[in-house]
Amino acid sequence: MSLELWKEFENCCAVTVMGESTINALSATLISSRALRGIRPYTVDRSVLRKVLVKGLEDKIQFGKKFSKYTINPDSVTITFEDGTESSGTLLVGADGGRSQIRQIFLPDFKTVDPEGICIFGKTPITDELKKRILPKALQWFVVVRDTAPVIQQVIWGSELPVSMFVEKMSFPNRSLTEMELPEDYLYWSMLLPTKLLGMTEDAVTASINRPSTEIGLDITCEWDPSLKCIIELQDPSQGAAIRIISGPPMLPEWETSDRVALIGDAIHVMAPSGGVGVATALKDASILSDKLAQGGISKSSIGAYESEMRIYAEASIRRSFAGGKLFFGQPPFDQCKEVSFKATSGEE
Ligand SMILES: Cc1cc2nc3c(=O)[nH]c(=O)nc-3n(C[C@H](O)[C@H](O)[C@H](O)COP(=O)(O)OP(=O)(O)OC[C@H]3O[C@@H](n4cnc5c(N)ncnc54)[C@H](O)[C@@H]3O)c2cc1C
Repeated sequence: MSLELWKEFENCCAVTVMGESTINALSATLISSRALRGIRPYTVDRSVLRKVLVKGLEDKIQFGKKFSKYTINPDSVTITFEDGTESSGTLLVGADGGRSQIRQIFLPDFKTVDPEGICIFGKTPITDELKKRILPKALQWFVVVRDTAPVIQQVIWGSELPVSMFVEKMSFPNRSLTEMELPEDYLYWSMLLPTKLLGMTEDAVTASINRPSTEIGLDITCEWDPSLKCIIELQDPSQGAAIRIISGPPMLPEWETSDRVALIGDAIHVMAPSGGVGVATALKDASILSDKLAQGGISKSSIGAYESEMRIYAEASIRRSFAGGKLFFGQPPFDQCKEVSFKATSGEE
């Protein structure tokens, strides 16, 4: 990234307030609260970050194409999209997320598991009404709202069945310094909960998660204090979603390095959002892979060097997500999680 673009990125960031509070969901009382010292991380709106990252590359990117299969040729790789069109190049970098179709073809035996968690997330505009109703502490800095099951339910399930909601104020102080269109200030929130809370059977969970995410959020928070529940009530329904969490193994399996296909981001190390490091790990992949390719060209040795480094920090990130998952939504250890299988709809030729 050029220095000029980096400056643009900084101008597009939201304020990072260095501190965190944990709040009881039912009483809206503080459980813990502390300022943080150290390196100030950047707080970004995802759509804005994407706009910054693609600046200057617009004519090299095509949107609206769905990957279907790839073909390895003697000196190139050809991708076929679902609309039947093709594109060829020297290296296919699979960055197509946790359910990556490229991974399903490249590493058909790769295992992902179900950590028994659901993530609901959304945005709530900071309006006068929200300011009147919300707990003021929730606007100070990063907040985690904690809720656990009553004791008999804990005995039945053998778990506290914790629900955790993360709330972060996104306010953009440098609007006047950038031409980039920035959103109005809002609260970004995400909630992690055990899948069991949506239903006792697979069918019940599927039916429940297919409802609008606002409805799921309102159900889960129905006993919460009004000064916290209002974050869900006043959300922008068009910005919300609910997803089932999946995770890869902390120790990535061995595979034969290819000089035509490499995987980065969630495509190779999908993890629960409970570590807060999925994007950072994906960006690190992109940076290291591009450095290795710049130094050694497109070769098995460059890609293998990236893969060796990536295995080490990806393992640390996935372990951190598992530790967070246990605390935030009662995630079981990896070896107790059920396997999730995906079927590649097409393949390598
Ligand atoms: C609620 C929530 C909160 C999170 N919070 C954080 C956080 O605070 N910090 C953090 O570091 N991480 C966080 N994460 C994790 C983070 O979002 C992911 O790790 C990150 O987005 C991975 O980036 P990626 O580019 O590898 O995959 P994705 O962001 O999943 O991007 C994959 C892209 O590939 C496209 N795609 C998929 N299949 C195809 C196909 N067949 N053809 C064409 N395109 C395709 C998709 O449309 C998508 O655009 C969070 C995740 C969630 C769900």
